[in-house]
Amino acid sequence: MARAAVPGGLSPRLVWRAARLVEFRDETPSARTLVFDVPDWPGHLPGQHVDVRLTADDGYSTQRSYSIATPADGSRVVLTVQLVEDGEVSPYLTETLSVGDVIELRGPVGGWFVWRSADPAPVLLIGGGSGIVPLMAMIRARRAAGSKALFRLIYSARTPEDRYYADELRTRVRDDFGLDVSYVYTRKTPEGWPLPPRRLGVADVNNGGWPPDFQPACFVCGPTGFVEAVADILIALGHDARRVKTERFGPSGT
Ligand SMILES: Cc1cc2nc3c(=O)[nH]c(=O)nc-3n(C[C@H](O)[C@H](O)[C@H](O)COP(=O)(O)OP(=O)(O)OC[C@H]3O[C@@H](n4cnc5c(N)ncnc54)[C@H](O)[C@@H]3O)c2cc1C
Repeated sequence: MARAAVPGGLSPRLVWRAARLVEFRDETPSARTLVFDVPDWPGHLPGQHVDVRLTADDGYSTQRSYSIATPADGSRVVLTVQLVEDGEVSPYLTETLSVGDVIELRGPVGGWFVWRSADPAPVLLIGGGSGIVPLMAMIRARRAAGSKALFRLIYSARTPEDRYYADELRTRVRDDFGLDVSYVYTRKTPEGWPLPPRRLGVADVNNGGWPPDFQPACFVCGPTGFVEAVADILIALGHDARRVKTERFGPSGT
């Protein structure tokens, strides 16, 4: 079928679209989920991201990438943005943008870091900080599709208060057969936690993940250093490099 005509003949994914904020909620003291209405949104796969463009009154404009937090749902595009204190874009998105305001976004972007609900293979998700966002889209898509693929999530957060989607994940683990979640805390643990704060290591991937023999699809997302360390661990444990997909968000560590 012929593609819909778009200005300049660009792929629909490359067209900047007006996105109106219709709702927001705070996930943590420093991260906010933003729900946009984007007319003519072409849909997306869990794991994909969008480019967001902000333009000032004087014409200066800047753009950043943000993962989509939920599976495709008509004209809704949901993002969760972590405040980076000295950042240019994230403070605006998390502190200034109000319901009714319009920004621009384009996408979906990325065809590699995606999970398809028809794939029955076990899945290992490993996220650091805001790297949980595209992984949560996969967990939500699994439920929406009624997939029986076995999922395990290992989620590294600085403190218990920094966990995104904590209540929803608790409910998903209780209600969705075949989903397990384990946590690693890098700065402060919950009271009574059996281990001190530390970076995610081999033992966490061994205990909270799948053996390489299961040939899981592995998705690793978070700050660059985190992603590289986890990918190295997975390969050292014997996982097939072709089944380890990574998405790097930025420079800092958790
Ligand atoms: C594919 C992709 C998907 C992404 N998805 C998300 C998402 O779902 N949620 C989300 O919150 N962010 C996400 N990011 C990160 C996002 O694009 C921005 O980098 C981040 O919001 C910081 O932008 P800023 O303009 O506020 O900071 P900038 O002005 O770009 O940077 C300010 C300072 O913060 C440092 N910095 C830049 N990026 C980060 C970062 N990610 N973490 C910590 N420090 C940083 C810079 O080195 C600099 O010192 C994603 C990035 C990519 C590449």
